[in-house]
Amino acid sequence: MIDLRSDTVTTPSDAMRAAAADADVGDDVYGEDPTVNELQSRAADLLGKEAALYVPSGTMGNQIAVRTHTERGQEVLLEEACHTYKWELGGIAQHSQVQARTLDGGERGVIAPEQVRNGYVQADDHRPGTGLLVLENTHNAKGGTAIAPEHIDAAAEAAHERGVPVHLDGARLFNAAAALDVPAARIAREADSVMSCLSKGLGAPIGSMLAGSSDFIERARRVRKLMGGGMRQAGIVAAPGLLALENRDRLQEDHRRARELAAGLDDVEGMTVPQPETNIVLVETDEPAREVLDRLGERDVMGSAFGEHTIRLCTHWDIDDEDIETTVERARGV
Ligand SMILES: *Cc1c(COP(=O)(O)O)cnc(C)c1O
Repeated sequence: MIDLRSDTVTTPSDAMRAAAADADVGDDVYGEDPTVNELQSRAADLLGKEAALYVPSGTMGNQIAVRTHTERGQEVLLEEACHTYKWELGGIAQHSQVQARTLDGGERGVIAPEQVRNGYVQADDHRPGTGLLVLENTHNAKGGTAIAPEHIDAAAEAAHERGVPVHLDGARLFNAAAALDVPAARIAREADSVMSCLSKGLGAPIGSMLAGSSDFIERARRVRKLMGGGMRQAGIVAAPGLLALENRDRLQEDHRRARELAAGLDDVEGMTVPQPETNIVLVETDEPAREVLDRLGERDVMGSAFGEHTIRLCTHWDIDDEDIETTVERARGV
C-alpha cells in the first residue's frame, strides 16, 4: 500500500522505539519527567521562545493557545480555510467561547496587514473586541504553502499595533523553514505563541509543542490540565519526539519527492497538478475526486478527498522514490 493520505501515517523508526524503551521518566504533571523537560527546552530553542509545553496533539496545542490568549466573548481573526477554524470541531467556540471572524487569505493563505486592520474590532457597548489573530504556516488547505517570514511579521505587527496577540499554527512550520531556508524561529519571531507538530513530517508517533513566553506557557500549562492533557510518564513518547526534532533536514527529501510526484501526475490525462512548495500535493481531477480515489485505492494507492475535484497527497518518510514512480504509473492506469 502506498499511503499518501497524510504525513501523520508514518510509523516510528527502530531508533525511536529504542529511545522510548530507554527513556528516563517521571511524573510530568509534577514537572518531573526529565525527557519531557529536555524536549520542551529543545523545542523552545528551535522555535525561538522562552518556554515550550509538550501537548498530545496539534489540535490541543491550538485550542490551548486560543483559550490562554483570549477572554470569553471576544473575537478571533483567522484565515477562512485554516485548521484552527475549519478542522477542529468548532473548538474555539466550545472551549474558549469566542467568535470567529474569518479573513480570505487568497490562493496561498496569506493574511495581509490591511485585512487585520479592517477585521479588527474595538470593544465597546455593542462590539466584542478582537482578542487574537491566528496565522498558519505552512498553510495546509492551500497546498502546504510556505509563507515568507515578512508576511507573518507584517500581519503580526498590524495586530500588535492594536494590542492583539498572535498565535501561529505551525503544525508544519519546519517544512516552511526547510522550503524557505530560514530557521523556524525566524518565521515565528513576531508570533506570541507557536504550535508545531512532531507527529507529521518529523515522524514522531505522538505529540506537538506549544511555545511562547514563560508567562504564557505557565498559564497554558493550567489550560492543558483543564483539557485533560496532563500526562504522567510522558517521557516514553517524548523521547521519540526528541529524535523527531533532528529530522528537520530530511523534510527537503519529502519536498523533492512532492515536486516529482506533481510533475508526473500533471502529465496524466484528467489531472492538473501545480508545483507544490512543500510536501502537500493538490491534484485537480476532471472526474469527481472520490471516484478517482476509489480507483487508485483498488491499485493500492491512497490519498485524501479535499474537495469535489481535489485530491490531497502528502509525501513523508515512509514514501521513497520508487513509491513516487509507482503512484504516477498507477494514476495513468486510472
Ligand atoms: C494536522 C494539523 C493540526 C492538528 O494536529 P493534530 O496533531 O492532528 O491534532 C493543526 N494545524 C494544522 C495546520 C495541521 O495540518
